[in-house]
Amino acid sequence: MAHCFLQVALDTPLNSCFDYRWPCASGEEPLVGQLVLVPFARREVVGLIVAVKDTSDVPVDKLKDAIAVRSQLAPLPERWIALARFAADYYQRPLGEVALPGLPKNLRVPKTVALDRALKKLAKNDTPHDPTPSGMPVLNPAQQEAANAIGSAAGFTPMLLYGVTGSGKTEVYLQACAQVLGRDPDAQILVLVPEINLTPQLEGNIQARFPGLMLATLHSGLSEGERMLHWLAAHEGKARIVLGTRLAILASLPNLKLIVIDEEHDPSYKQQEGLRYSARDLAVWRAHQLGIPIVLGSATPSLETWHHAGSHRYRKLELRERAVRDAVLPTVKLIDTERDRVKDGLSSAVIAALRQRLDRGEQSLLFLNRRGYAPVISCDACGWISNCTRCTAFMVLHKPEHRLRCHHCSLELRIPRHCPTCGNVDLQPLGRGTQRVEEGLAAMFPEARILRIDADSTRLKGSAQAAFDAVHRGEVDILVGTQMVAKGHDFKKLTLVGILNPDTALFSQDYRASERLFAQLMQVAGRAGRAGAASEVLVQTRYASHPLYGAVQRHDYDRFAGSLLEERRQAGLPPFMYQALLRAEAPELANAIAFLEAARDCLPTEAVMINDPIPMTMTRVHNTDRAQLLVESPSRPALQHFLREWVEILRAMKSRVRWSLEVDPIDI
Ligand code: ADP
Ligand code: ZN
Ligand code: ZN
Repeated sequence: MAHCFLQVALDTPLNSCFDYRWPCASGEEPLVGQLVLVPFARREVVGLIVAVKDTSDVPVDKLKDAIAVRSQLAPLPERWIALARFAADYYQRPLGEVALPGLPKNLRVPKTVALDRALKKLAKNDTPHDPTPSGMPVLNPAQQEAANAIGSAAGFTPMLLYGVTGSGKTEVYLQACAQVLGRDPDAQILVLVPEINLTPQLEGNIQARFPGLMLATLHSGLSEGERMLHWLAAHEGKARIVLGTRLAILASLPNLKLIVIDEEHDPSYKQQEGLRYSARDLAVWRAHQLGIPIVLGSATPSLETWHHAGSHRYRKLELRERAVRDAVLPTVKLIDTERDRVKDGLSSAVIAALRQRLDRGEQSLLFLNRRGYAPVISCDACGWISNCTRCTAFMVLHKPEHRLRCHHCSLELRIPRHCPTCGNVDLQPLGRGTQRVEEGLAAMFPEARILRIDADSTRLKGSAQAAFDAVHRGEVDILVGTQMVAKGHDFKKLTLVGILNPDTALFSQDYRASERLFAQLMQVAGRAGRAGAASEVLVQTRYASHPLYGAVQRHDYDRFAGSLLEERRQAGLPPFMYQALLRAEAPELANAIAFLEAARDCLPTEAVMINDPIPMTMTRVHNTDRAQLLVESPSRPALQHFLREWVEILRAMKSRVRWSLEVDPIDI
């Protein structure tokens, strides 16, 4: 019997494309982009057809037959496969490992029932939509100019929307979207936000603005059923706007006409496990591939993006002022804690400012990027401290939960009643996390309504949203939180931001630490005074003369970014250098290092610089030692070329050491 041959990508490590036979006479001609059920290693799995061929390099009798083609689902577009292929090549992973995990789980299970039912539900939801926007506020001239520039851009046009906090970037996106949707009845727009907690705010804005328009959301908080439905709505071209977190960059969007990346500087756009991709970078590639505009919005752009805007590869659109009439940026004061000593973590200046806000019925936010009660407990008598037995890290005291917790391996212990080495019953918490600040505030301001928002307080599904809603409704006087509260939220009643302990990041070894700290402080400061009332930001620091704080005080992103870029240029760091990081982990550090040394020596080259292996700063996590090797080159193609060959050799080594490669690492 005559056969055709299907090349199928499967979600397997190493080589992930396999040939299968398909009988030609079956009457069903498979298409590239369709999902197909195939036998693999005594199981049946779903794969993606990436080619249909007349011949195979493998002898016919060695090949197995594909079982069934999922013809109910429209094939994934070739351009989507090209995107997955690019990501796979660029990040040095097999195609199947990129393409398949991006699809809803229900599409990847051997049974087909789920698929039919979902598809039916979607057809029911398919009401005619009306993209006529409603309730558009009048834009100020700078907003209007930006919205028009985005809305009318043709072809691949990368744009940086550089607008101070509260300058009304959301409104610019919405009006640009209205222009694109109004012009093209099939157009789809992809809008990415860095954090799942920011989706409800924007979802609300979009729904209010475009009643009746089909909006799909894609983020990790959806149930499998919801995810399937939203993914299909995007794939079938029915959802006109798709709003999501980084994983949405791999959504299938056949009519994609505009991409918006809000808060583009945010490190959350980088996936930090498995396929370590940057959703922002893939978005730019996708816009280029499709020849469409992309807008990257931020008050504190990443240095990469700022560099591109400076060299005119990206077009810069600027919003210099806050949008709400009379709203100005907050006054930033530096509180020198050498002079104004802190009590319960708070200086007298911050306490007085909190008191004033309470009297006036305004909201305050205290920002401390450390969750838990105290980062460590110790014994004064013998010097014992609460180290994690499995990691190079402290066990953090979580007082409300009565636990010591390691934030790296999630080991949990009951709080010891006495010192494990000397028996002393007087164990002391050292330092301060959000729980301890909350406790101190409650004692100091018994009448105030205090709410803590961090990863611990928002563990339950829906609790983060409930907490943010309470803040918006004005049911909170003092909000205490980690970076979760620093991003994107439009708190209208907030007039005071206190930044409690930012200094540690000043002396970090990570060369990106100052870029991040600066962005974080500008962002959290930007939560104050958004609705027009006079507002202030108090930064508690022992290093009040540090240039970073001076720049925060002057709201001077431009000059600070300029000086950081100059430092990076001189030091030969990104964005003037392209990097990849090989990480190895083993029960013993020596084995990880030995593997990396072999990796360093296995492919001699002049084209890239291969550094020596070093243990990672946090060497041991969960009883595993970790080391890394940095490879760099001023040429991206040279680095890519090297990595391709190198990865092949590393795979062939079949080392027992676990290793992974990260391209464009952001934590080194
Ligand atoms: P950003 O994202 O730039 O920090 P937002 O988009 O959240 O700022 O806007 C800040 C506030 O300004 C919001 O409350 C928004 O409703 C308001 N706003 C935006 N544009 C206008 C405008 N043209 N007129 C009046 N208010 C506006
Ligand atoms: Zn002791
Ligand atoms: Zn641990």
